[in-house]
Amino acid sequence: MINILVIDRERAVRQVLKEGLSKIGYSVQAVSSTAEALKLLEEKSFSIILTDLRIPGVKGIEILKKFKHQGSGVSIIAIVPYFSVKLAIEALSKKQIFDYVTKPFNIKEVEIVLRRVVDRDYLLRQIGQKDLYQEMAIIDGLTGLYNRRHLDEMLTREIERARRYRQPLALLMMDIDDFKKYNDTHGHLAGDKLLKDLAKLLLNAVRAADMIFRYGGEEFVVVLPHTFKQEAVEVAKRILNLDKRKLPATISIGLAYFLDEVLSKDELIAQADSALYQAKRLGKKQICLYTEETS
Ligand code: GH3
Ligand code: MG
Ligand code: MG
Repeated sequence: MINILVIDRERAVRQVLKEGLSKIGYSVQAVSSTAEALKLLEEKSFSIILTDLRIPGVKGIEILKKFKHQGSGVSIIAIVPYFSVKLAIEALSKKQIFDYVTKPFNIKEVEIVLRRVVDRDYLLRQIGQKDLYQEMAIIDGLTGLYNRRHLDEMLTREIERARRYRQPLALLMMDIDDFKKYNDTHGHLAGDKLLKDLAKLLLNAVRAADMIFRYGGEEFVVVLPHTFKQEAVEVAKRILNLDKRKLPATISIGLAYFLDEVLSKDELIAQADSALYQAKRLGKKQICLYTEETS
Protein backbone atom coordinates (compact mmCIF):
# COMPACT_ATOMS: atom_id res chain seq x y z
CA MET A 1 0.00 0.00 0.00
CA ILE A 2 1.34 3.41 -0.91
CA ASN A 3 0.91 6.09 1.73
CA ILE A 4 0.08 9.59 0.62
CA LEU A 5 -0.09 12.69 2.77
CA VAL A 6 -2.24 15.55 1.51
CA ILE A 7 -1.72 19.05 2.91
CA ASP A 8 -4.15 21.71 1.83
CA ARG A 9 -6.15 24.27 3.72
CA GLU A 10 -9.18 23.91 1.47
CA ARG A 11 -11.45 21.28 2.82
CA ALA A 12 -12.93 20.50 -0.58
CA VAL A 13 -9.47 19.81 -1.97
CA ARG A 14 -8.66 17.43 0.86
CA GLN A 15 -11.94 15.65 0.38
CA VAL A 16 -11.68 15.24 -3.39
CA LEU A 17 -8.14 13.89 -3.16
CA LYS A 18 -8.86 11.60 -0.28
CA GLU A 19 -11.90 10.09 -1.95
CA GLY A 20 -10.52 9.98 -5.48
CA LEU A 21 -7.19 8.45 -4.53
CA SER A 22 -8.52 6.00 -1.98
CA LYS A 23 -10.81 4.66 -4.66
CA ILE A 24 -7.83 3.72 -6.83
CA GLY A 25 -5.99 1.98 -4.05
CA TYR A 26 -3.82 4.57 -2.31
CA SER A 27 -3.85 5.07 1.43
CA VAL A 28 -4.47 8.75 1.99
CA GLN A 29 -4.33 11.02 5.02
CA ALA A 30 -5.21 14.68 4.69
CA VAL A 31 -4.37 17.62 6.96
CA SER A 32 -4.73 21.38 6.73
CA SER A 33 -1.54 22.73 8.27
CA THR A 34 2.20 22.26 8.37
CA ALA A 35 2.17 21.55 12.07
CA GLU A 36 -0.20 18.63 11.65
CA ALA A 37 1.81 17.35 8.71
CA LEU A 38 5.10 17.40 10.58
CA LYS A 39 3.53 15.61 13.48
CA LEU A 40 2.19 12.87 11.24
CA LEU A 41 5.56 12.53 9.53
CA GLU A 42 7.11 11.74 12.87
CA GLU A 43 4.73 8.88 13.43
CA LYS A 44 4.49 7.34 10.04
CA SER A 45 6.33 7.19 6.74
CA PHE A 46 4.83 8.46 3.51
CA SER A 47 6.01 7.82 -0.03
CA ILE A 48 4.33 10.87 -1.47
CA ILE A 49 3.33 14.28 -0.13
CA LEU A 50 0.78 16.26 -2.10
CA THR A 51 0.96 19.78 -0.75
CA ASP A 52 -0.31 23.27 -1.29
CA LEU A 53 2.74 25.50 -1.63
CA ARG A 54 1.12 28.32 0.26
CA ILE A 55 0.06 26.76 3.48
CA PRO A 56 -0.44 29.23 6.33
CA GLY A 57 2.40 30.15 8.62
CA VAL A 58 5.22 29.40 6.25
CA LYS A 59 7.06 31.52 3.76
CA GLY A 60 6.53 30.21 0.24
CA ILE A 61 8.31 27.03 -0.61
CA GLU A 62 10.65 27.05 2.36
CA ILE A 63 8.48 24.37 3.84
CA LEU A 64 9.50 21.90 1.19
CA LYS A 65 13.00 21.67 2.62
CA LYS A 66 11.55 20.76 5.94
CA PHE A 67 9.46 17.98 4.46
CA LYS A 68 12.35 16.60 2.47
CA HIS A 69 14.39 16.50 5.59
CA GLN A 70 11.72 14.89 7.68
CA GLY A 71 10.62 12.19 5.31
CA SER A 72 13.72 10.97 3.54
CA GLY A 73 13.05 9.61 0.08
CA VAL A 74 9.62 11.17 -0.01
CA SER A 75 8.43 12.57 -3.35
CA ILE A 76 6.73 15.94 -3.12
CA ILE A 77 4.03 16.98 -5.54
CA ALA A 78 2.76 20.54 -5.38
CA ILE A 79 -0.89 21.45 -5.56
CA VAL A 80 -1.25 24.84 -7.24
CA PRO A 81 -4.16 26.89 -8.45
CA TYR A 82 -4.37 26.96 -12.22
CA PHE A 83 -3.34 30.65 -12.28
CA SER A 84 -0.19 30.28 -10.23
CA VAL A 85 1.56 27.45 -12.00
CA LYS A 86 4.64 29.68 -12.04
CA LEU A 87 5.28 28.99 -8.37
CA ALA A 88 5.34 25.27 -9.02
CA ILE A 89 7.61 25.62 -12.00
CA GLU A 90 10.06 27.58 -9.92
CA ALA A 91 10.09 24.81 -7.34
CA LEU A 92 10.43 22.23 -10.08
CA SER A 93 13.44 23.91 -11.57
CA LYS A 94 15.07 24.04 -8.14
CA LYS A 95 14.37 20.31 -7.79
CA GLN A 96 12.31 20.98 -4.70
CA ILE A 97 9.35 19.07 -6.03
CA PHE A 98 8.86 16.04 -8.23
CA ASP A 99 5.95 17.45 -10.17
CA TYR A 100 2.76 19.45 -9.69
CA VAL A 101 -0.97 19.18 -10.20
CA THR A 102 -3.37 22.05 -10.74
CA LYS A 103 -6.61 22.72 -8.97
CA PRO A 104 -9.47 22.46 -9.72
CA PHE A 105 -8.46 18.85 -10.23
CA ASN A 106 -8.64 16.52 -13.05
CA ILE A 107 -8.31 13.38 -10.95
CA LYS A 108 -7.05 11.47 -13.98
CA GLU A 109 -4.11 13.86 -14.24
CA VAL A 110 -3.35 13.44 -10.54
CA GLU A 111 -3.43 9.71 -11.06
CA ILE A 112 -0.92 9.84 -13.93
CA VAL A 113 1.48 12.02 -11.95
CA LEU A 114 1.28 9.67 -8.99
CA ARG A 115 1.87 6.67 -11.16
CA ARG A 116 5.01 8.29 -12.46
CA VAL A 117 6.37 8.69 -8.92
CA VAL A 118 5.60 5.09 -8.16
CA ASP A 119 7.12 3.91 -11.47
CA ARG A 120 10.29 5.84 -10.89
CA ASP A 121 10.78 4.55 -7.36
CA TYR A 122 10.20 1.13 -8.74
CA LEU A 123 12.72 1.61 -11.55
CA LEU A 124 15.39 2.85 -9.21
CA ARG A 125 14.96 -0.20 -7.04
CA GLN A 126 14.74 -2.75 -9.81
CA ILE A 127 17.48 -1.65 -12.17
CA GLY A 128 20.16 -4.28 -12.40
CA GLN A 129 17.92 -7.02 -11.07
CA LYS A 130 15.76 -9.60 -12.75
CA ASP A 131 12.28 -8.51 -11.85
CA LEU A 132 8.87 -9.98 -11.40
CA TYR A 133 7.02 -7.12 -12.93
CA GLN A 134 8.35 -7.23 -16.44
CA GLU A 135 4.86 -7.88 -17.64
CA MET A 136 4.15 -4.26 -16.79
CA ALA A 137 3.82 -3.36 -20.42
CA ILE A 138 5.62 -0.06 -20.04
CA ILE A 139 9.02 -1.30 -18.90
CA ASP A 140 11.91 -2.44 -21.06
CA GLY A 141 13.11 -5.80 -19.83
CA LEU A 142 16.85 -5.31 -20.25
CA THR A 143 17.39 -1.82 -18.91
CA GLY A 144 14.37 -1.32 -16.65
CA LEU A 145 13.67 1.99 -18.39
CA TYR A 146 10.35 2.90 -19.95
CA ASN A 147 9.87 1.29 -23.34
CA ARG A 148 9.08 2.88 -26.65
CA ARG A 149 5.37 2.20 -26.41
CA HIS A 150 5.18 4.17 -23.21
CA LEU A 151 6.87 7.13 -24.89
CA ASP A 152 3.75 7.63 -26.96
CA GLU A 153 1.52 8.00 -23.92
CA MET A 154 3.89 10.14 -21.88
CA LEU A 155 4.94 12.44 -24.68
CA THR A 156 1.35 13.10 -25.71
CA ARG A 157 0.56 14.09 -22.14
CA GLU A 158 3.64 16.27 -21.68
CA ILE A 159 3.07 18.11 -24.96
CA GLU A 160 -0.51 18.80 -23.93
CA ARG A 161 0.65 20.16 -20.58
CA ALA A 162 3.34 22.30 -22.23
CA ARG A 163 0.75 23.76 -24.59
CA ARG A 164 -1.75 24.43 -21.84
CA TYR A 165 0.68 26.20 -19.54
CA ARG A 166 2.86 27.71 -22.29
CA GLN A 167 5.90 25.86 -21.08
CA PRO A 168 8.95 24.74 -23.02
CA LEU A 169 9.66 21.10 -23.72
CA ALA A 170 12.87 19.45 -24.89
CA LEU A 171 13.60 15.98 -26.17
CA LEU A 172 16.97 14.28 -26.49
CA MET A 173 17.47 11.35 -28.79
CA MET A 174 20.73 9.48 -28.30
CA ASP A 175 22.52 6.59 -29.91
CA ILE A 176 25.66 4.79 -28.79
CA ASP A 177 28.55 5.24 -31.22
CA ASP A 178 29.98 2.18 -32.95
CA PHE A 179 28.06 -0.21 -30.77
CA LYS A 180 28.25 -2.95 -33.35
CA LYS A 181 32.01 -2.87 -33.03
CA TYR A 182 31.74 -2.98 -29.24
CA ASN A 183 29.60 -6.12 -29.47
CA ASP A 184 31.99 -7.68 -31.95
CA THR A 185 35.01 -6.97 -29.77
CA HIS A 186 33.64 -7.73 -26.31
CA GLY A 187 30.69 -9.99 -26.99
CA HIS A 188 26.94 -9.48 -26.87
CA LEU A 189 26.70 -9.99 -23.11
CA ALA A 190 29.19 -7.22 -22.48
CA GLY A 191 27.08 -5.12 -24.87
CA ASP A 192 24.00 -5.83 -22.78
CA LYS A 193 25.84 -4.84 -19.63
CA LEU A 194 26.87 -1.57 -21.20
CA LEU A 195 23.24 -0.82 -22.02
CA LYS A 196 22.23 -1.51 -18.43
CA ASP A 197 25.05 0.61 -17.05
CA LEU A 198 24.12 3.46 -19.35
CA ALA A 199 20.50 3.27 -18.16
CA LYS A 200 21.62 3.66 -14.58
CA LEU A 201 23.95 6.55 -15.39
CA LEU A 202 21.21 8.32 -17.34
CA LEU A 203 18.77 8.04 -14.43
CA ASN A 204 21.31 9.74 -12.22
CA ALA A 205 22.10 12.43 -14.78
CA VAL A 206 18.59 13.86 -15.12
CA ARG A 207 16.01 15.44 -12.81
CA ALA A 208 13.34 13.32 -11.18
CA ALA A 209 10.67 14.81 -13.42
CA ASP A 210 12.51 13.88 -16.62
CA MET A 211 11.62 10.65 -18.33
CA ILE A 212 13.95 8.17 -19.98
CA PHE A 213 12.95 5.62 -22.59
CA ARG A 214 14.73 2.85 -24.42
CA TYR A 215 13.72 3.78 -27.92
CA GLY A 216 15.46 1.03 -29.85
CA GLY A 217 18.40 -1.35 -29.52
CA GLU A 218 21.01 1.17 -28.38
CA GLU A 219 18.91 4.28 -28.77
CA PHE A 220 17.46 6.22 -25.87
CA VAL A 221 15.09 9.17 -25.55
CA VAL A 222 14.95 11.65 -22.68
CA VAL A 223 11.88 13.88 -22.35
CA LEU A 224 12.58 17.08 -20.42
CA PRO A 225 9.41 18.92 -19.36
CA HIS A 226 9.56 22.62 -18.43
CA THR A 227 13.06 22.85 -19.83
CA PHE A 228 14.50 25.73 -21.81
CA LYS A 229 16.91 25.11 -24.65
CA GLN A 230 20.03 26.07 -22.73
CA GLU A 231 19.14 23.82 -19.80
CA ALA A 232 18.51 20.94 -22.19
CA VAL A 233 21.93 21.52 -23.73
CA GLU A 234 23.43 21.33 -20.24
CA VAL A 235 21.73 17.99 -19.61
CA ALA A 236 22.95 16.70 -22.98
CA LYS A 237 26.50 17.80 -22.14
CA ARG A 238 26.29 16.00 -18.84
CA ILE A 239 25.32 12.83 -20.68
CA LEU A 240 28.03 13.31 -23.29
CA ASN A 241 30.61 13.64 -20.52
CA LEU A 242 29.58 10.62 -18.47
CA ASP A 243 32.48 9.01 -16.65
CA LYS A 244 34.43 6.99 -19.21
CA ARG A 245 35.47 4.49 -16.56
CA LYS A 246 31.82 3.65 -15.98
CA LEU A 247 30.82 3.84 -19.62
CA PRO A 248 33.39 2.62 -22.14
CA ALA A 249 31.61 4.12 -25.14
CA THR A 250 30.73 7.47 -26.65
CA ILE A 251 27.28 8.76 -27.51
CA SER A 252 25.76 11.06 -30.11
CA ILE A 253 22.80 13.23 -29.17
CA GLY A 254 20.12 15.05 -31.15
CA LEU A 255 18.12 17.77 -29.42
CA ALA A 256 14.68 19.08 -30.38
CA TYR A 257 12.86 21.80 -28.53
CA PHE A 258 9.80 24.02 -28.60
CA LEU A 259 8.35 26.90 -26.66
CA ASP A 260 5.94 29.09 -28.59
CA GLU A 261 5.27 26.95 -31.56
CA VAL A 262 4.03 23.67 -30.13
CA LEU A 263 5.10 20.62 -32.11
CA SER A 264 3.30 17.33 -32.36
CA LYS A 265 4.79 14.20 -30.87
CA ASP A 266 5.83 12.92 -34.27
CA GLU A 267 7.35 16.24 -35.32
CA LEU A 268 9.37 16.50 -32.13
CA ILE A 269 10.73 12.98 -32.50
CA ALA A 270 11.47 13.49 -36.20
CA GLN A 271 13.42 16.67 -35.41
CA ALA A 272 15.47 15.01 -32.67
CA ASP A 273 16.14 12.10 -34.99
CA SER A 274 17.34 14.32 -37.77
CA ALA A 275 19.59 16.24 -35.34
CA LEU A 276 21.00 12.91 -34.18
CA TYR A 277 21.69 11.91 -37.74
CA GLN A 278 23.55 15.20 -38.19
CA ALA A 279 25.65 14.51 -35.06
CA LYS A 280 26.64 11.15 -36.51
CA ARG A 281 27.49 12.69 -39.85
CA LEU A 282 29.69 15.31 -38.26
CA GLY A 283 31.83 12.62 -36.65
CA LYS A 284 29.79 11.29 -33.64
CA LYS A 285 30.46 11.95 -29.90
CA GLN A 286 28.63 15.27 -30.03
CA ILE A 287 25.35 17.10 -29.57
CA CYS A 288 23.40 18.65 -32.44
CA LEU A 289 20.41 20.95 -32.09
CA TYR A 290 17.70 20.69 -34.65
CA THR A 291 17.51 23.63 -37.04
CA GLU A 292 15.79 24.00 -40.40
CA GLU A 293 19.13 23.38 -42.11
CA THR A 294 19.68 20.11 -40.25
CA SER A 295 16.85 18.41 -42.06
P1 GH3 B 1 26.77 4.27 -35.11
O1 GH3 B 1 27.92 4.93 -34.45
O2 GH3 B 1 26.55 4.76 -36.49
O3 GH3 B 1 25.53 4.32 -34.30
O4 GH3 B 1 27.22 2.76 -35.24
P2 GH3 B 1 26.58 1.50 -34.57
O5 GH3 B 1 27.54 0.38 -34.70
O6 GH3 B 1 26.15 1.80 -33.21
O7 GH3 B 1 25.37 1.29 -35.57
P3 GH3 B 1 24.00 0.60 -35.55
O8 GH3 B 1 22.99 1.50 -34.92
O9 GH3 B 1 23.71 0.20 -36.97
O10 GH3 B 1 24.18 -0.72 -34.68
C1 GH3 B 1 23.54 -0.93 -33.52
C2 GH3 B 1 23.98 -2.23 -32.96
O11 GH3 B 1 23.46 -2.39 -31.66
C3 GH3 B 1 23.50 -3.41 -33.73
C4 GH3 B 1 23.17 -4.44 -32.69
O12 GH3 B 1 24.05 -5.52 -32.77
C5 GH3 B 1 23.39 -3.74 -31.38
N1 GH3 B 1 22.31 -3.98 -30.46
C6 GH3 B 1 21.01 -3.60 -30.57
N2 GH3 B 1 20.29 -4.03 -29.51
C7 GH3 B 1 21.16 -4.67 -28.68
C8 GH3 B 1 21.02 -5.33 -27.42
O13 GH3 B 1 19.96 -5.42 -26.81
N3 GH3 B 1 22.15 -5.87 -26.87
C9 GH3 B 1 23.36 -5.81 -27.51
N4 GH3 B 1 24.41 -6.36 -26.92
N5 GH3 B 1 23.51 -5.20 -28.70
C10 GH3 B 1 22.43 -4.66 -29.28
MG1 MG C 1 21.42 2.75 -33.66
MG1 MG D 1 24.80 3.28 -32.72
